[in-house]
Amino acid sequence: MTSRLADIRLPGGVMTDDGVRKDVRFEQLTGMVELLAGECRPGGDCPAEAVSLVIDRAVASIGGREATRTMIDDLPVGDRQCIMRQLGIALGFDRLWLTCTCSSCQSGFDIDLRQSDLPTKDAGTGFPSDTATIGGRSRTIRVPTGADQAAISDIAGEEEAIVALLARIVDPATPAEIRSLDTAEITRLERMVERMSPEVSGEIVTACPECRNENRVAVDPDLWVDLIRDSLLAEVHVIASAYHWTEREILDLPITRRRRYLELLDRDRGMRDRLDEVVA
Ligand SMILES: [Zn+2]
Repeated sequence: MTSRLADIRLPGGVMTDDGVRKDVRFEQLTGMVELLAGECRPGGDCPAEAVSLVIDRAVASIGGREATRTMIDDLPVGDRQCIMRQLGIALGFDRLWLTCTCSSCQSGFDIDLRQSDLPTKDAGTGFPSDTATIGGRSRTIRVPTGADQAAISDIAGEEEAIVALLARIVDPATPAEIRSLDTAEITRLERMVERMSPEVSGEIVTACPECRNENRVAVDPDLWVDLIRDSLLAEVHVIASAYHWTEREILDLPITRRRRYLELLDRDRGMRDRLDEVVA
């Protein structure tokens, strides 16, 4: 059982006394993780805060150390996305059907996607922080984390959000100093961050079956959370109807055990159907 739910490897990782470590172990996954995941997208994107709650519930250890909320908040954005995607796969949502509208001929078509086929980009030279001369002085630049995403989530306006983010990841730098940098220096900063940052693939390119136009389709690492809620409630309903356990008791079951009970109920139903046929 543990082989499927066990270790994942981060494209970035955490700094330890032994250098960068990339290994993550999941907790024994229960319906409580699915419940949190199903509720993490109230509309639009999953907020950083909600992603942290899901990861905190799902992950046992990162780099051999017990995972804490602070460690999870401080993970690079790409690592958090990697954990969300791998969690979806571990929960049985590897294969996803996406509906797409062709940007050229406007015809609709379906895409059969396997999340496990999507590539990741490992962290590059300098990760997780590097130094450069920016605005005439030496500064340290580090990769953005979940805590950074949360801190800038309420800022209206993309430009203001970028200034606030750079002021957090460039040290030393105030928002005023960031605003005073010219375009070339901002571009240099962005390229450094890009070079260092771990990434998971956020889109696929797929040809329209009608006109062969190549469409870019966004594939969020948390795409699967939309699918989980209905299936979870349906499974709880079937088990509760048969065994009369409480919702909480069923959600606390390891997912593999909950699915085994569903198989047994399914088998019973099959046997009853066959008996009914014999009696009739
Ligand atoms: Zn087309």
